[in-house]
Amino acid sequence: EHSIQCMEVEKQFTGDGITTNALHQVNLKLKKGEFVAVVGPSGSGKSTLLSLLGTLDRPTNGEILYGEQSVSKMKVNEIADFRFENIGFIFQQFHLLPTLTALENVMVPLFSRRVPYNKKERALQLLEQVGLKDKLNSLPSQLSGGQQQRVAIARALIHEPHWLLADEPTGNLDSETGEVIFQLVSQLNKEKGCGVIFVTHDPLLAGRADRIIEMKDGEIISDAAGER
Ligand code: ADP
Ligand code: ADP
Repeated sequence: EHSIQCMEVEKQFTGDGITTNALHQVNLKLKKGEFVAVVGPSGSGKSTLLSLLGTLDRPTNGEILYGEQSVSKMKVNEIADFRFENIGFIFQQFHLLPTLTALENVMVPLFSRRVPYNKKERALQLLEQVGLKDKLNSLPSQLSGGQQQRVAIARALIHEPHWLLADEPTGNLDSETGEVIFQLVSQLNKEKGCGVIFVTHDPLLAGRADRIIEMKDGEIISDAAGER
């Protein structure tokens, strides 16, 4: 049901009369709850693939299905609701709002929505799960990089998405902190059953996923099981 499927997905960018084929006939099926690494050189299409899977952008050709539902056929406002319900994002730069506390940052995604539960209760629970119970009222500037990424993870999970999409989540962290964040995401994947798709340049981290998708020049050149 919460699988994701790419069927003959193409993405072209055109600017200044130049067209770039960022993705070329990508076919892919991701199973519910899978923990997937996406690797490949710079410019190989990893971020583009992630943004299409995350419904932040649409393919030029081809289809992306979530379960039975075709994202390409949804209207813009339907996509926003769909994304809210299904997908959480974390990034290399944590993208926290600098004037809000950790707790407030985690609640941000809920403010634009009518949600039938206690926002603060949920945010507190998540911050505790990511190990930041004693940093609720800290501003991002008062937190280390690893702590800021924990806040971002809690924010991404606040609406219990079926998928967590991560673009270089450890890229801005020293390797020790990156390891801790990787383990946290891995643990949350197991506990909550939400699938994870993460882009990484680190082959050692990628090797520890359930599945490793390698890209080159806009194509998937290998799709193999990891050690997990
Ligand atoms: P990666 O994440 O693997 O570094 P990207 O998906 O960012 O690769 O980029 C794939 C290709 O598409 C590159 O050639 C890049 O320059 C191009 N590209 C990505 N986004 C855009 C965009 N918004 N406009 C034009 N070209 C883009
Ligand atoms: P990453 O660090 O994930 O590889 P990039 O630095 O490649 O990210 O890209 C950052 C952003 O810039 C992305 O949103 C991407 O779509 C956009 N982008 C990448 N290449 C181009 C390009 N040639 N022209 C315009 N936008 C681009």
